[in-house]
Amino acid sequence: MNGGWKGGDGPPAMKGISLYVHIPFCAARCPYCDFATAPATSAPRARYIDALATEIVREGTALERPRLRTIYVGGGTPSLLEPDEIARLGRAIDDVFVRRPREVTVEVNPATLDRGRLEAWRAFGVTRISLGVQSFSEAGLRALGRTHQPEDVAPAVAAARGAGCDVSLDLIFGWPGQGPREWHEDLDRAVALAPDHLSCYPLELALEPEDSVANWPGGGWPVVERWRRATAAAQADDRGLALLYAVAHRRLARAGYRHYEIANWARAGKRSLHNVTYWRNGEWLGVGAGAHSHLAGVRSHRPAWLIAYVDAIDRASPRVVDPSADRVSEDAILGLRLDTGIDLGRFAARSGSAARERIGSALRALDGRGLVHWTGDRARLTPRGRILANEVFVRLLS
Ligand code: SF4
Repeated sequence: MNGGWKGGDGPPAMKGISLYVHIPFCAARCPYCDFATAPATSAPRARYIDALATEIVREGTALERPRLRTIYVGGGTPSLLEPDEIARLGRAIDDVFVRRPREVTVEVNPATLDRGRLEAWRAFGVTRISLGVQSFSEAGLRALGRTHQPEDVAPAVAAARGAGCDVSLDLIFGWPGQGPREWHEDLDRAVALAPDHLSCYPLELALEPEDSVANWPGGGWPVVERWRRATAAAQADDRGLALLYAVAHRRLARAGYRHYEIANWARAGKRSLHNVTYWRNGEWLGVGAGAHSHLAGVRSHRPAWLIAYVDAIDRASPRVVDPSADRVSEDAILGLRLDTGIDLGRFAARSGSAARERIGSALRALDGRGLVHWTGDRARLTPRGRILANEVFVRLLS
């Protein structure tokens, strides 16, 4: 079957969708990264932007000019785009979508936010800047192989605020040498900048080449593998990561942030509306290399490699449809990521009583382990359940 709704279901009900735009370029390759990225100076960069604009126009037209509720420009490092490239993408979107979004986010490397680009992003409609801080410590940034400096962050936050944007900070915990004290320091420095939103992810290192994209311009997978093995041996183990996660939970609660999703905290009214669309299994179109879409109940994606993506757009190939998943389990897992959890009554109304029975008994089998909290028909992960979320999710898949 072809991509998206083109398989014969007709266009999705157009009460509004979300749009994800993928920019794969980065100034340097971080050795822990598992995304398909390309150097910012790539020769095919102009072709990529052409392909992206073509895909936006083609998809928006095919979807009959839907309204965009949220836009998220991620990567990669979208903040490396030049003002004319940003304006070009904005024009393509305006040509074929009704653009009245409640939220427009762009991911930014703290070292790349200059005045010209910030003005171009404001003209694009950006309301929210997500800064890839990762750590405020030089040792942390070195351990993670990052190229920006801790002192780049505060000016980037001030610039984003000066442009009237909300600010989200991404942090990574569990790097070699980081214990609770160092993690507290990172969290304190983040809180001192008063961001609207924070995302905290454990350092995860895929150790299989098929799960990873070899780095450039270095020695490819063998070099990445050496770095990862050394880092994995030196980083916090599962108990250590759980301890650091609990530190974040307490510290950020004390600072007034709501832990609304496993890895995300927000001030009141500042949740990421775009990402909530994913967790509520809503409708979104993803454009660009490796971008995923979920439209009219069908999941699909584009090839991750830049050249394969550009070729697919040149040939007007449809998106690749993902094998049908167990939608009931998928809905339950996504819903449990949020602090609101899942309501089995609503679940039954949407997916039938057999689905309710299956999910309910899988979760009830965990009673007594302190992983799931029940309020009537509503199940939520406890703080311990969030740390051990994969143990819960595996039950829902079996
Ligand atoms: S972690 Fe981010 S900045 Fe680093 S290579 Fe991956 S996408 Fe680029």
